Amino acid sequence: MAASGPSTDGSTNIPDYEYADVNTTAFHIGSFRNEWLSRLKAEDFSYQQEDDDAFDANFAKEMGVAAETMTELKSICSLDSLRCHPEDEQPDTEVVPPDPTLKTLVQRKKKQDYRASLKVTKNRHDLYADELERLTVGRRPEEVADLVPEGEVILTINVYYPAIFEKFNYIRPHMTLLMTGSHSLAELRDAICCVSDLQVCGEFSNTPDIAPDFISKDHYKSAFFFFEGVFYNDMRFQECQDISMTVIEWAKARNFPPHSQAKMEDTRFVDLKIKVGFPYLYCHQGDCEHLVIITDVRLAHRNDCLDKKLYPLLTHKHRVTTQKCAVCHVFIGRWFTTNDQFAPSEPCLFCDKCFRMLHYDSEGSKLGDFLAYPYVDRGAFN
Ligand SMILES: [Zn+2]
Ligand SMILES: [Zn+2]
Repeated sequence: MAASGPSTDGSTNIPDYEYADVNTTAFHIGSFRNEWLSRLKAEDFSYQQEDDDAFDANFAKEMGVAAETMTELKSICSLDSLRCHPEDEQPDTEVVPPDPTLKTLVQRKKKQDYRASLKVTKNRHDLYADELERLTVGRRPEEVADLVPEGEVILTINVYYPAIFEKFNYIRPHMTLLMTGSHSLAELRDAICCVSDLQVCGEFSNTPDIAPDFISKDHYKSAFFFFEGVFYNDMRFQECQDISMTVIEWAKARNFPPHSQAKMEDTRFVDLKIKVGFPYLYCHQGDCEHLVIITDVRLAHRNDCLDKKLYPLLTHKHRVTTQKCAVCHVFIGRWFTTNDQFAPSEPCLFCDKCFRMLHYDSEGSKLGDFLAYPYVDRGAFN
C-alpha cells in the first residue's frame, strides 16, 4: 500500500498504518475501492484469464528476455522435467523416496508419519471444513446474475466470542466471514451465530413444549454495531429499540466527543469508514458484546468464490466441547433441573429425550416436584 496519496476530499482514502502491524488509519471503503479501480487496468481485476501466449509475451517483455529464451525457460522449468526418477519409470507420487534431501519432501514425510500415528483421522468437523473449502474456492454461480461483479470488494471479518464468556476471551476468533462491499451490516448481524440469541429464560417444568416460543432472538431484537463513532442500530422490526441512546446520552453528559446513529440495514460496507485491524463492537441481547475486527479489504479475484448466494461465506469457526446429557452421555444437554429426585446430581443436565422419559408419564403429565430450565450449549453451533 502507498503511504500517502492525492486525495479529493481533504482526507486520504488510501490506508496507512496508524500503529505499525496493528491497525490502519480510518478510510472510506467505497473510496478506497475507487482509488484501486482508477489505478488498475481492467484486465488486472478481470475474471477472464489471459491466454497462455499473451501471458508469455507479457512475461518476456516484463523480464526483458527474448522470445527464444522464454521458450527455453518454459521447457526447462516445465513440470515434465521436474522429476527424481528415471524417465521410463512412473513413480507413486504419494510415496516419499527413502532418505530425501529436498526440504519439501522431508516436511512431507514428517507430516505423513504424524498422520499415520494419529488414532483417529480427521473428525467430521474438519471433513466438513475441507468440503466447504473445496466447494467454494473459485466457484462460479449457475446464474450469471449471481456473479460477484468484477471490481467488487471483499472483506474479511473476524467476530470474537462475547466478553461474558470468560473462558474464550483469549481465543482466536469465534468465526471468520467473507462479505462483499454491497452487503449491509444487517446481513452481517444475521450471519453471526451467538448462543445468547438462543437462550430461553424461565422455568418450564409444567409446560416444556412451549419453551421454544421464548427464544431470546425472537423477543429481544435490538442490536447495534459501533464503528468509528457511529452506532448502527438494527431497526428492521417493530420491536427494535434504539439501544445506543443510553450510551450516547451518557457520553454527552460527560463531555465525550459526540456520537451519531444510523440504521444497520441501510448501511453497506462500501459506505463505511473503518480502520483495518481495529477492534469494533457488536452488541445484542442487552449486554452480549463481541469484538468485530475487519482484517482485510481487497478486490475480488477470479479464484475467489464468485457465487453471491454463498456469501456471507464462513471460512473459519472455532469449536468448543459440548456438555452431554448426564443419563445417556450421547446427546448434547438441553435441560437442567434442580430439586429433582430423579437426578444423579444437583443441578443436572439432560438431553431432551432422557429429560422427557424420566420426568413425564405417557400422557405428558409431570412426575415429581422438580424445576426445569432450558439449557443452550455453547457448542450448539459447532
Ligand atoms: Zn452474543
Ligand atoms: Zn440423554
